[in-house]
Amino acid sequence: MCGIVGYIGSKEAYEILIKGLHRLEYRGYDSAGIALINGNRELSVYKAKGKVSALEDSVAEKDTTGTIGIAHTRWATHGEPNVVNAHPHYSQSKTLALVHNGIIENYKTLREVLVKHGYKFDSETDTEVLVELIEYMKESHGCDLVRAVHLALKNVVGAYAIAILDKNNPNRIIAARKGSPLIVGIGGTKEGETPEFFLGSDATPIIEYTDQVVYLKDEEIVVLNRDGSYEITNLNNVQQTPQLQTLQVSLDQLEKGGYPHFMLKEIHEQPKALRTCIGSRINKRQKDVILSGIIDHKDKFLKARRIIICACGTSWHAALIGKYFIEEAAHIPVEVEYASEFRYRNPVIFPDDVMIAVSQSGETADTLAAIKLAKEKGAFIYGVCNVIGSSIAREAESGTYIHVGPEIGVASTKAFTGQVTTLSLIGLAIAKEKKTLSDEIYTMLVDELNNIPEKMQWTLDNNKGIDNFAQMFTYCKNFIYLGRGYNYPVALEGALKLKEISYIHAEGYPAAEMKHGPIALVDEEMPVVVIAPKRGMYDKVVSNIQEIKSRKGKIISVVTEGDETVRVLSDYCFVIPDTRDCFVPLLAVLPLQLLSYYVAVAKGRNVDQPRNLAKSVTVE
Ligand code: GLU
Repeated sequence: MCGIVGYIGSKEAYEILIKGLHRLEYRGYDSAGIALINGNRELSVYKAKGKVSALEDSVAEKDTTGTIGIAHTRWATHGEPNVVNAHPHYSQSKTLALVHNGIIENYKTLREVLVKHGYKFDSETDTEVLVELIEYMKESHGCDLVRAVHLALKNVVGAYAIAILDKNNPNRIIAARKGSPLIVGIGGTKEGETPEFFLGSDATPIIEYTDQVVYLKDEEIVVLNRDGSYEITNLNNVQQTPQLQTLQVSLDQLEKGGYPHFMLKEIHEQPKALRTCIGSRINKRQKDVILSGIIDHKDKFLKARRIIICACGTSWHAALIGKYFIEEAAHIPVEVEYASEFRYRNPVIFPDDVMIAVSQSGETADTLAAIKLAKEKGAFIYGVCNVIGSSIAREAESGTYIHVGPEIGVASTKAFTGQVTTLSLIGLAIAKEKKTLSDEIYTMLVDELNNIPEKMQWTLDNNKGIDNFAQMFTYCKNFIYLGRGYNYPVALEGALKLKEISYIHAEGYPAAEMKHGPIALVDEEMPVVVIAPKRGMYDKVVSNIQEIKSRKGKIISVVTEGDETVRVLSDYCFVIPDTRDCFVPLLAVLPLQLLSYYVAVAKGRNVDQPRNLAKSVTVE
C-alpha cells in the first residue's frame, strides 16, 4: 500500500512524478504529495488530501520546476488521511523530505527518544519519526546522510520503502527498502543520452522511460547520483552487487484500452490472459502439462506429507479451489490458511511440508511473513504470483507465475482466474509425477483446461444485458451467494466482489449450510445467487433452490447452457458452457464479476478505487 515515485535526471521531474502517481494510485488514494528541488536549491513540499488530481489542482499556481523529486500516494495506517499526515514529511530543519511505504512498528519508542532530544512532530504518522531519526543520526554522529540512513534504519522495527531528498545535495536521491517493494529504473544509458534514474513501488511509473531495472532487496540502500552512477549498500555499509533486469510489461497493458474502468477491461481480458497463463505449460499435441517449477523439485512433492496453501482475500478463495483440485488429482492433503492467522498462531510445520504462497502482487505482507516462518521450519516454499520479481517470488524456492499481465483494478478478477488455472496446472503436474490419475483422466483434464479460454469467451459473449439487469439491485442491502463443492469458493468470491465495490453486504455459503442458519434471512427482498451447473450435486443444488423459492427469495442462477429446470425456477439466469466440475469456477465467476461491476456502476461507486481499500496489502 502507498505508492512511491522518484526521478533524477535532466528532464522536469513534476510531470514524470505525477504520471507515476496516477499509475500507482491503485495502491492508495487517501492523500498525495510531492517534493521537488528547483534550480535555486529550494526544497518544496506540496500535499493534498484525496486523489492525485487534488494535488495537481492545489499546485496549479506553485513553482513545480526541478529535475529531482519524490512523490507519494498514501493509504493511511497511522494518522487520519489529511494534509498534515500526507507524505513527503520534512525533517525538523526542513533540509530533508521523505516518503515512506510501510509501518515503523517501534515509532512510539523512537518518537519519545527524539522528543527528549528536542524534536517536535507535526503529524501523527510513524513516517515522520523516520525522517527525524535520520536527521538526528546525521547531527549526533556528524556523519554524511547515507551513513545516517544506515544508522537510523538499524534502529527501526517494521517495514519500509523510503526515498529521501536532501536540499543540501540536489544531485542525489537516497532510497531504501525492507518488506515493502521498491524498484530502480535506469534510463539514459544509450550513447548521447543523459543519465536518469526512476524509482517506483512497482514498474508502472518506470516502464514508459526504460525497461532496465534493479529490484532492491531487503535492507538495501541505494544512492542515485545525477551523473548516472549509483551504489547499493546494506545496513552495515557493505557494497552490494546490483542485478540488472529487463522489465516484461508493455505500456498498453497499463491503459484502459477504451473501457470505462480497469475492472471491466480486466474482466474481458480473461480469455486472453488465461491463454497466456496456460501458454507453453500445456503441450497441446501431447495433451501434457510441463511445469518446470514442479519438475525441478519433484522429490519435494513426491514426499510431501501435506501442502499448506497460504493466501489472503481473493487469493484465499482461489487457494480453496486449488485445495479441492490438488487433493482430488494428486492425493495430497491440502490445508488452506489465511496468512495473517497462520503467521501468529505457532502452527505445526513439518520439514516435509510444501507451502504454496498465493499472492497477485507478490508483496502481501502477511503472506510474506508466513512463508518466512514456514521456511525457517524447513518447509519447501512454492510461489504463485503475478508480479515478476516480487518479494514472494524471490523468497520462494520455486514457483509458477500466473502471467495474466498487470492487474490495476483494486477488485481482483483476472488474477483470481489466473491463480485457479495455475493451481490446476500445479495439481496436474504433481498428479503426473505421482501417477495418481489414469492416463485417460489426466489427458482429458489437460485437454479441458486448455479449452477453458474459449469457453470463457463464450461465457462473456452470451451473458449480455447484465448492465440493465443490475439496476434492479441497487436498492438491496444484502445478497446471499451459494455454491457446493468447487463452487462454494466461487460463492465466497462473488460475495466479496459485490462487497468490495458496491458496498452491499453479501455472504457466501456452502449451499447445504443454508438450513443451519442463513435461510432465516431469506424473504422476498433477498437476492440469492446460486451457482448451479448441471454437474455433480446438481440435484442437491436444485433442492436448495426450491427451499429458497418456497421462502420467496429471488433466485439469480448460474446454469449450464440448455438447463431449463433451474432456468424456470430462477428470476434471472446466467449461462455457462458445460465443463468438468473442477473447471466450472473459471466460467461461473465471470457473470458474478460482471454483476458486481454493474451493480457498483449503477450505484455510482468508484469501481477501480473502492473506499478504504488498496490493491497490494503490503502492511499487516
Ligand atoms: N505508515 C505510513 C502512513 O501511515 C505509510 C502507510 C503505508 O505505506 O501504507 O502514512
